Amino acid sequence: MHSAPHLRPPSIDRVLSWSAVAPLIAEYGREPVLAGVRSVLDSARQAARDGALVDYTEPGLTVHLAAHLAQRNAPRLQRVFNLTGTVLHTNLGRAPLPDEAVDALVMAARHPCALEYDLASGGRGDRDDVVEGVLCELTGAEAATVVNNNAAAVFLLLNTLALRKQVIVSRGELVEIGGAFRVPDIMSRAGARLVEVGTTNRTHLRDFEGAIDPRCAMLMKVHTSNYAIQGFTASVPEAELATLAHANGLPFVVDLGSGTLIDLTRFGLPREPTVQASLAAGADLVSFSGDKLLGGPQAGILAGRRDLIQRIRKNPLKRALRVDKLTLAALEAVLRLYRDPDRLAARLTTLHLLTRQAGEIQAQAARLLPSMQRALAGWPVRVSAEPALSQIGSGSLPIDRLHSCALAVRPATRKSGVLHDIEAALRGLPVPVIGRIADGALRLDLRCLAVADEACFATQLARLTA
Ligand SMILES: *Cc1c(COP(=O)(O)O)cnc(C)c1O
Repeated sequence: MHSAPHLRPPSIDRVLSWSAVAPLIAEYGREPVLAGVRSVLDSARQAARDGALVDYTEPGLTVHLAAHLAQRNAPRLQRVFNLTGTVLHTNLGRAPLPDEAVDALVMAARHPCALEYDLASGGRGDRDDVVEGVLCELTGAEAATVVNNNAAAVFLLLNTLALRKQVIVSRGELVEIGGAFRVPDIMSRAGARLVEVGTTNRTHLRDFEGAIDPRCAMLMKVHTSNYAIQGFTASVPEAELATLAHANGLPFVVDLGSGTLIDLTRFGLPREPTVQASLAAGADLVSFSGDKLLGGPQAGILAGRRDLIQRIRKNPLKRALRVDKLTLAALEAVLRLYRDPDRLAARLTTLHLLTRQAGEIQAQAARLLPSMQRALAGWPVRVSAEPALSQIGSGSLPIDRLHSCALAVRPATRKSGVLHDIEAALRGLPVPVIGRIADGALRLDLRCLAVADEACFATQLARLTA
């Protein structure tokens, strides 16, 4: 028995007393290590029952214990490199925040802050006050309010202004956004009745006119963010819908989806409707996302007529859908950046990523290609740098593409399964790299790889060989 102590499991107390385990207790705490020892011993016994030769020695078990604890302690929400080619990737967290917003968010997280407190009077304030001023200044709206996301904003405006009433929408705009946001579903859950008018490809002012009756609460336009209807099409301009709505004493509301606060063509990007333009065209309320083209934190913003915003604020659901201080801090900081459009592309991360020139990304690909080729030298693949087309993402500007450059991996043999193996290996790196397999190649679009992160990206590639 004494001759082979490593063949018999030690007691839990004994493992806890090992000197090799002391540093683990110092790092993770006694309880988690105790649970870890139980789990590692259970697995070891199971392996032994299955016929494996199990090493029960101090070094042998401690290696497993350390790995187990490290894995359990790793955060679930891990940083990744988004090399999918989609800049505003919903599954990867959409807009990365600029430093100004991160600083504001950290301040609000760390310290008490005047969230609902009027520093001038010492009285109670409204959390909307944090951003309402700058939102009105930037959009020309009379008033504004913020909720959890744009889906919540649309829900809240419908529930407030159209409960048990009808909302007229064009059949060409019954949008489904990824996930579960469908205009008709949101409408019914909000207690409003959808009245569809026109056809998928053509809707005219007379279609709206014909549908207006006393049960009607509003006319609504939904921006077709994630698709385009082309060919024989017709839709009614916002100004005409606004005039028609107002002539009938009804509000005209626009769900802009992404929405932007600045004409993107000045940065060489495709045109996207601005919040200002909708309001100037006569929209009484506009709703848009904080984390799409705006480039801020997840939020839904409603801007427009003061009396309507007041009614929305009084809806008890506003309390259920409100944003927290972290969101408001970040949103305020992002909105402030819009006051200086000349420096916006340099300071607002999303806009910086969207406006990166293909030549610059190409140079980056040339710098990184050797590391990638070295890392994959043992795999049956060829690696090259090639032109790519990035997407904006999050249903913004669906048909437009941005010229970019990617590291492309192609199988050198007929076995194309190797791409999935490499894709998985990339996902297993310390900072997981998320690429995209399409048309027989795995592509890493470098548009969203910050130059400052190149070294980290390249260094960890060496692990792929192992
Ligand atoms: C994205 C989008 C929404 C949902 O916005 P979230 O901020 O993701 O909740 C609603 N309507 C339209 C038209 C959209 O594009």
